[in-house]
Amino acid sequence: MFSRRVLQIEPFQVMEILAKAQRLERQSERVIHLEIGEPDFPTPKKVVDEAYRAMQRGDTHYTDARGIRELREAISEHISETLGVEVDPSQEVLVTGGVSLALQFVLASLLEPGDEVLITDPSYPCYPNFIRFFDAKPVSVNLREDYSLDLEEFKEKLSRRTKAILINTPANPTGTYLTMEELRALCEVASEAEAWVISDEIYSGLVYDAERSPSILKAGYERSVMLDGFSKLYAMTGWRLGYVVAPKQLIAQVLKLQQNFYISPSSFAQHAAVVALSLRDEVKAMKAEFDRRRQYIIKRLKDIPGFEVHEPKAAYYVFPDVSEISTDSSALAEYILDTAKVAVTPGAAFGRRGEGHLRISYANSLENIAEAMDRIEKALENYG
Ligand code: PLP
Repeated sequence: MFSRRVLQIEPFQVMEILAKAQRLERQSERVIHLEIGEPDFPTPKKVVDEAYRAMQRGDTHYTDARGIRELREAISEHISETLGVEVDPSQEVLVTGGVSLALQFVLASLLEPGDEVLITDPSYPCYPNFIRFFDAKPVSVNLREDYSLDLEEFKEKLSRRTKAILINTPANPTGTYLTMEELRALCEVASEAEAWVISDEIYSGLVYDAERSPSILKAGYERSVMLDGFSKLYAMTGWRLGYVVAPKQLIAQVLKLQQNFYISPSSFAQHAAVVALSLRDEVKAMKAEFDRRRQYIIKRLKDIPGFEVHEPKAAYYVFPDVSEISTDSSALAEYILDTAKVAVTPGAAFGRRGEGHLRISYANSLENIAEAMDRIEKALENYG
């Protein structure tokens, strides 16, 4: 009855945990949510105000399918300022409905049935589904124990069918990011198969030991694609805006998909996004708060017996190895939800290598994080 394409898509596990947590909440339980991948801060007021103004001005219609010129120019300036790389806003930038849609359009433009795409294990759970949807094959490359890249394994997994290497830097769920040397080395590996390097840099601004993470745009590799968006750094998940920066030949293909499948991104959201890119103090304040929570949660998790913590340097996730407690992360996450009423994501959702881990998001108040840590600690005293 339903297409093979859709039947092979797996549900997004984070949403399933959220649904279970919400069922508990309906039974009047107070659940603390550390499973969600979105900032708990409201979208900055200046951004919201600009959206209102845009609506009142009548900016409520379809826009240029590439995105409004002002936003593409602002993105290009932002890239020039933060990376020192010049990109042409009329031909090398396209704005669309989040990094999610951007990635689908890029993959749809590149993949033939049977092509292979290398992804890391663990990685963002939607990636394999996106790749399979285009009848291509996700090929997993294990990260090392400390979540760093194993270039030798990338080389081993490369084949004649490799069309792209898809990376996420900084990474969900590990909170690590690639150095410029690693990015260049990866491009060198990709060049052997004339493969593309697609770099999802949605967490690029949420780095705690630097201004931002190194970008594929600086690697100087001709087949590279950079994806970024407004969801994370500007607390704008609901605005559904992201963008692709790629060679103009690829953008021309993505543009056709956008014209047919999406027409244009939301007009007033795009005007508001121009303001988001100009924010400094608001972003700095949110980042400082995330960092405070990061330091706190690392300290607390390290004190829980059986939790081995690799310190995350970016995004808002910690990905402790809990295999000493349980090698079944789904069962452990379920126990924690049922007993401590704290929702966390099982590491298995992020790939086979993610098993034996939990992804704990610190996109929640310090107060809630503190209580969640107390509850988890207590619940685990009686586990097993
Ligand atoms: N890429 C990664 C690695 C993510 O973690 C997420 C959301 O959690 C997305 C993409 C989705 O981004 P967007 O809201 O721009 O579609």
